[in-house]
Amino acid sequence: MDTTPETLIDEAQRILLICHVNPDGDAVGSLLGLGWALRKLGKQCTLACSDPVPPIYHYLPGSEMVTNQPQGTFDLIITLDCSDLRRLGEVYDSQDLVGVPIINIDHHVTNVEFGTVNWVDPTATSTAEMVLELVQRLGVPLNQTIATCLLNGIVTDTRGFRTPNTTRRAMEAAITLVDAGAPLAKITNQVFNRRPLADIRLWAEALRTVRLEGPIIWAEITPAMRRECGFTEEGDAGLASFLITANEADIAVVFNQQANGRVEVGMRSVPGVDVSAVALSFGGGGHPQAAGFGINGSLPTVREQVIAALKQAWLEQNSSS
Ligand code: AMP
Ligand code: MN
Ligand code: MN
Repeated sequence: MDTTPETLIDEAQRILLICHVNPDGDAVGSLLGLGWALRKLGKQCTLACSDPVPPIYHYLPGSEMVTNQPQGTFDLIITLDCSDLRRLGEVYDSQDLVGVPIINIDHHVTNVEFGTVNWVDPTATSTAEMVLELVQRLGVPLNQTIATCLLNGIVTDTRGFRTPNTTRRAMEAAITLVDAGAPLAKITNQVFNRRPLADIRLWAEALRTVRLEGPIIWAEITPAMRRECGFTEEGDAGLASFLITANEADIAVVFNQQANGRVEVGMRSVPGVDVSAVALSFGGGGHPQAAGFGINGSLPTVREQVIAALKQAWLEQNSSS
């Protein structure tokens, strides 16, 4: 009953680490940071993600080792920053992985505890913060490589130590990582102060669609917009986080139509308003202030459904306080 991540790692030799589809800075940073640490223990590690590492994270040591086609057999899987098995995407579809024990390390409040061992801590700002704790418990000394990857995760998930869950523990973790050589200013500059021109062009197009409906601000992104702007990724280029800065809004939503007919819905909310339960009810997940899901359907239909659900959630939360 008392199996810990450490005991499973101790017994394993060939470990497959997987982070979530469309990886963000926490997913990539946790994957690489833990991979480097486990190699120090003499483990064979394969780092996998169903989608490519976004170019802004190519500066992280080892980012080129991430594969979407893991080869060979494994005696342990460690999932990072994933709230459910579907978030692993196609890398987990292989028959060879059936029955392999899973350590599920995550900080999403919506985690469905799909692992053999589940270590889920919604009070952690990031999975990277948890990985640091694990690395320390495993007795692996920190070096600049490990520290840089993990600080990248903490910095991105706290949006530069600005989210309301930025605890003393997160600040202390960051200090530990800086002491080990992680370049805080370089990381911050890399992930927040530089972006492709295509992102800015996409914002220009999407911002034309902005509407305010009661406490909800929303905007749309279509495949045609992405094409015109030369935007080759699937995400929203940070648009939802920008929209929630509107004084008039408590909730921001971006409806991001994909070429495959799915609409990816990204949501943000002000502190005190929780959007994670709505995300979970649509089959997704996330955190109280940042959550999302994918759904099949046309943009107008999805928009109507989601806005109705969010209005309802907002009313319930405001009447109970
Ligand atoms: P995003 O708006 O894509 O930055 O996502 C915000 C938060 O919601 C992140 O913590 C994601 O992990 C979570 N999230 C987004 N999409 C999904 C999904 N389809 N399923 C589960 N969680 C999601
Ligand atoms: Mn993530
Ligand atoms: Mn995270």
